[in-house]
Amino acid sequence: MFLGCFAARQNPYSIYLSIIHTTSDLESICSSLKTLNLDGHFSSDNVYHAARDFGNRYHSLPCVILRPESVSDIAKTIKHIFHMGASSILTVAARGHGHSLQGQSQAHGGVVINMQSLREQEMQVHAGELPFLDVSGGELFINILHETLKYGLAPKSWTDYLHLTVGGTLSNAGISGQAFRHGPQISNVYQLQVVTGKGEVMNCSEKQNADLFYSVLGGLGQFGIITRARIALEPAPKMVKWIRVLYSNFLIFSEDQEYLISAETTFDYIEGFVIINKTGLLNNWRSSFNPQDPVQASRFNSDGKTLYCLEMAKNFNPDENDITNQEVENLLSQLRYIPSTLLLTEVSYLNFLDRVHVSETKLRLKGLWEVPHPWLNLLIPRTRIHEFAEQVFSNILRDSSNGPILIYPLNKSKWDNRTSAVTPEEDIFYLVAFLSSAMPASTGTDGLEHILNQQKIILNFCETTHLGVKQYLPHYTNQEEWRTHFGPQWEIFVRRKSAYDPLAILAPGQKIFQKAI
Ligand code: FAD
Repeated sequence: MFLGCFAARQNPYSIYLSIIHTTSDLESICSSLKTLNLDGHFSSDNVYHAARDFGNRYHSLPCVILRPESVSDIAKTIKHIFHMGASSILTVAARGHGHSLQGQSQAHGGVVINMQSLREQEMQVHAGELPFLDVSGGELFINILHETLKYGLAPKSWTDYLHLTVGGTLSNAGISGQAFRHGPQISNVYQLQVVTGKGEVMNCSEKQNADLFYSVLGGLGQFGIITRARIALEPAPKMVKWIRVLYSNFLIFSEDQEYLISAETTFDYIEGFVIINKTGLLNNWRSSFNPQDPVQASRFNSDGKTLYCLEMAKNFNPDENDITNQEVENLLSQLRYIPSTLLLTEVSYLNFLDRVHVSETKLRLKGLWEVPHPWLNLLIPRTRIHEFAEQVFSNILRDSSNGPILIYPLNKSKWDNRTSAVTPEEDIFYLVAFLSSAMPASTGTDGLEHILNQQKIILNFCETTHLGVKQYLPHYTNQEEWRTHFGPQWEIFVRRKSAYDPLAILAPGQKIFQKAI
């Protein structure tokens, strides 16, 4: 029946489905799901939506969407598929907000679970000495922020963009400018409720089912579906002093960044980005930032130079304004940026954390949000970052007009090596994120082919010079590449897979394991 629907709409993806199974097989397997007695329901409307993601380059059509209203809906569905065993080709992908880049939340001919439907229990904020939040795995961080702020609290570690779900970011790591101090989001979770690939509902934490807990954190959705999470909170500040300064020398820029992430008294947020061949930079930023010295700033000429912007934020409450200004001044006095480029602004904590949403709104208005996003995120060991910067920012890339290039260092000591996330083998490593947008149908330097080609050159450079780079939000197409990605952790990853999802039902869009049929 479901496939009948697809055929009637002449769906462009049906060719893929026919490769893996015949239409009638799929039809009957999908129909068998309808016999399940659920609180929520299966739906074949909008399967096209589930075949899209933010990357907008990979499109795998599922057989059906599950809109769960309880954890038991998810457990029953997976258990049903698990008990079909190898006779069923069905796989299951949890879809958070679908902000993956290469089809990671898609399930080719399988079941996509719309995690945002799972609102069985309200969010629960627990104030106290060690405050925490109990929240559904399908909740968006923007909603978490609004809710926790009502109690004067907020999570400690963030992503730059908040319209992502708990399950989606905990399956990767969840990194932003607070991670140097608090670690990634996966270092700030006390407890999880998970539905495994066998359909079992399990609670896990450092003390209970610890192996499952660490498997799932950074586990790319391979070991279970996160249905609930207990997330660490801290008192939330009201305001943020948000600062940008520029450097023209990469060595000095990175030394200052590393100094700040290692200092005891420092900023609350530290990031940075690379600007290649852009004009009128400070003027463009003036709508949101004030130069400390407007006359000097107006004379600053960025034409053609490669510049490095250090971005920092200091949290404060209005009654701490004077002392915070002093702390900021002290910290800035230890840095070696170009003095005329100091820009400052003050915004609410909410507006600071939700800052990318402002850009989203602008891009949506111009029709530039739903374009292909060929992003590449790399974690690079500190000792090799200069070599990387020299080659990539001076030789390979001619400009940074296709999208932001983020660069900031992280402390490995804040990452728990029991999780499934993999990082380079050094105490400090950098995140370098090429966040490109491609103009549809363009064959120029803003087109998909050109951007992908540049990324290939960057990856080849990393490989031939043995930089020890790891991809963040990794994307590989065969198991050999995954084995290399995980390195010595591969054996553990495989053991965990066979323990928690032995039939390889979960998260097929990651293309790590293939369901045996
Ligand atoms: P989805 O794309 O829906 O899913 C991602 C993967 O997780 C899939 O494999 C899916 O099956 C699995 N999954 C989803 N929900 C669950 C669940 N409940 N249980 C188990 N598995 C699940 N990342 C950062 O770390 N820092 C950033 O600053 C950052 N900024 C971003 C900004 C933008 C604009 C975008 C588009 C992405 C950004 N990301 C960032 C990447 C983002 O964290 C990941 O792509 C994340 O997976 C997206 O969350 P989602 O809810 O959309 O997940």
